[in-house]
Amino acid sequence: MKIHNFSAGPSILPKEVMQKASLAVKELDDSGLSLIEISHRSKNFVDIMDEACDKALNITKLRGKGYKALFLQGGASQQFLMSAYNLLEKKAGFINSGTWSTKAIKEAQLLGEVIEVASSKDKNFNYIPKTNSIPADLDYLHLTTNNTIFGTQFKEIPETLVPLVADMSSDIFSTNFDYSKFSLFYAGAQKNLGPAGTTLVIVKEDILGKVTRKIPSILDYSIQIKSGSMFNTPPVFSVYTCLLTLRWIEDNGGLDEIGKKNKIKADLIYDEIDKNSKFIGFADKESRSTMNATFNLSEPSLADSFDTLCQNAGISGIKGHRSVGGYRASMYNALSISSVKALVECMQILEQKSK
Ligand SMILES: *Cc1c(COP(=O)(O)O)cnc(C)c1O
Repeated sequence: MKIHNFSAGPSILPKEVMQKASLAVKELDDSGLSLIEISHRSKNFVDIMDEACDKALNITKLRGKGYKALFLQGGASQQFLMSAYNLLEKKAGFINSGTWSTKAIKEAQLLGEVIEVASSKDKNFNYIPKTNSIPADLDYLHLTTNNTIFGTQFKEIPETLVPLVADMSSDIFSTNFDYSKFSLFYAGAQKNLGPAGTTLVIVKEDILGKVTRKIPSILDYSIQIKSGSMFNTPPVFSVYTCLLTLRWIEDNGGLDEIGKKNKIKADLIYDEIDKNSKFIGFADKESRSTMNATFNLSEPSLADSFDTLCQNAGISGIKGHRSVGGYRASMYNALSISSVKALVECMQILEQKSK
């Protein structure tokens, strides 16, 4: 049976990517060696790292604009700390739009003053808060572009003159948008890019070197840039698989085409949530994420019926996060339109059966 993988992360990757990645574990190209047994300093791997960084800058249209791409470890969670280490001198601003923002705030507070310029905590983060005034004296403003758990996403990036820093773990490369608004952004690979184990960081070099504190080497972006993301041994399998995904994005028409497909998927599911009497959307309509759709049953007693329908249709990974409950359909780039149609069909059958 075909499984429709709606997992929030680690999550679905393109089939071609997985096939090539698994072949490389046996033998990388015609090298006679496995990807995971060669030196990370070998030309084979250095070329992989260079191409992956190059493609990341190319796809985001940031090549030649003063940015560097890095593939680091420690997940997005380490970037909560690392970004503050490198950028927070006196005061940072945060938009608190969910669990991950809250965690980012906690780490930054270890290093300086943090103010919440906006928050949607009052309604269990079911909307993207408005940012009316952003103080001009911030070292930077941090936001989470897509809130994986609550299913909300920024539709407009706040206007400000202070450098913008973003956690884009769950919507990076999901559509074409102006990445140059950000001075630093990062994404744990395991949502839309590759297997867990590496984190893509894209940083504008001119924001670095401005804090007075001493930065531990492994957390210092400048040192990571100088060492080509190889201050320590990089997670070679993850980086290679990310490269394969980046090639897949380019081969499939780039972010314009990816964005169109993601919009079709999101429209399908939200249209159904809105017209189906058995379901209620969790996130506010204006804040809905194209990547993670969160919804509940209007009658909790239908849960067994719906779960059985989904199970029989091969639908996997739609249980909501414990802080929201209900369901969450994660529709990352590699998920096909037909998978979303399969889920919508289960929702329709449930409504017909329970009339
Ligand atoms: C999954 C996720 C994280 C956590 O990533 P790790 O790589 O596990 O640290 C952080 N932020 C967002 C938005 C996420 O979706």
